[in-house]
Amino acid sequence: MAYSYEAPVSQTLFDRASLVTPGGVNSPVRAFRAVGGTPRFMVSGTGPYLTDADGREYVDLVCSWGPMILGHSHPEVIAAVQDAVARGTSFGTPGEGEVALAEEIVARIEPVEQVRLVSSGTEATMSAIRLARGFTGRAKIVKFAGCYHGHVDALLAAAGSGVATFGLPDTPGVTGAQAGDTIVLPYNDLEAVRAAFAAQPGEIACVITEASPGNMGVVPPLDGFNAGLKEICAADGALYISDEVMTGFRTSRTGWYGIDGVRPDLMTFGKVMGGGFPAAAFGGRADVMAHLAPVGPVYQAGTLSGNPIATAAGLAQLRLLDDAAYVKVDAVSAELRALVGEALTKEGVAHTVSAASNMFSVFFTDEPVRNYEDAKKQEAFRFTAFFHSMLEQGVYLPPSAFESWFVSTAHDARAVERIAAALPAAARAASEATA
Ligand code: PLP
Repeated sequence: MAYSYEAPVSQTLFDRASLVTPGGVNSPVRAFRAVGGTPRFMVSGTGPYLTDADGREYVDLVCSWGPMILGHSHPEVIAAVQDAVARGTSFGTPGEGEVALAEEIVARIEPVEQVRLVSSGTEATMSAIRLARGFTGRAKIVKFAGCYHGHVDALLAAAGSGVATFGLPDTPGVTGAQAGDTIVLPYNDLEAVRAAFAAQPGEIACVITEASPGNMGVVPPLDGFNAGLKEICAADGALYISDEVMTGFRTSRTGWYGIDGVRPDLMTFGKVMGGGFPAAAFGGRADVMAHLAPVGPVYQAGTLSGNPIATAAGLAQLRLLDDAAYVKVDAVSAELRALVGEALTKEGVAHTVSAASNMFSVFFTDEPVRNYEDAKKQEAFRFTAFFHSMLEQGVYLPPSAFESWFVSTAHDARAVERIAAALPAAARAASEATA
């Protein structure tokens, strides 16, 4: 595909980056390989806008893959960070900020009786799995195809996100021993879960699932799916782990738990709770968390865990996220979904706009998408054309058809107008695209 626009400064930076960093990026999807073209090197962000190294401004519908729910450079978050930085950047001791952030999480998310802070979502899910195995004394774990839980060895089997974007079946470097205890099942299929438990009773430590998946595109759980998982786990003595790294504090004030009310044994968080900094967490039942060192025998640690800058940013962001903020984000999301749907319908492009609260994505198929197999049937080449048209017109979408789009409280009428103005040409480009 030829691109009619250029990004010379980004291209120069990408060339430099490619010499010293594999693929020129520090996280694969950023490289634009699924859509082609030059990845944009961003230099600043304000509200709903990002500015790249060539001086071009974009309406941002990635929001750093979820965290920036208040938009970029929110003055109160920046002030909290500046205040924290002025007092030092890392102590390696306990500090009040991490207590306050843990209290905020425990107060908001009722099933979380205790929480441990870490630095990334990957660390959170890795630690939760280890804890589930330590607590139950069992080895096997269940995950779902198309769900992404970070780049934990045992969880990279049939994973979503970048693994889905690049169509990787599995990842070299993960040994049979590391992945051999991972049972991968189709998403939204309770019968498959029942069959797995029936085949190996008392052997499965936990089921881990995205509370509502956003890493194969947005594919919400069918009614009763999460409740069914909880029930099957409870009957067998396994733990139900709800990964809310993406949905937590985004899909509602209390995350996806606030929407489906299914009480997990353990939960994982990241993204929004860090306010744009590396902070994440896992938590849940106090009797399970009591198995963690230094109280219990399951080891888990981190030099920068509970870092004072990250906790200050996260706490400032969470405190600003009241009910009114979610009303705003939900409304912008609904408006955009309607606009995208209208534009694609007008051009006769087969599509499904799939939403889970304010997270949404567009599948280029009109067949129902209930799992990863369904998601892969979409005409992703149409997304590529759509993506580049939007980019050229100053709208920054996730560079993959298998990712959620994210909005923020800062996406105001002007930002929505700019997106609306770009949609007709992008929909036309999608309709004219060929495989
Ligand atoms: N779990 C889910 C549901 C995610 O979406 C992600 C990242 O996208 C992770 C875990 C991993 O988080 P991190 O990238 O912070 O390691």
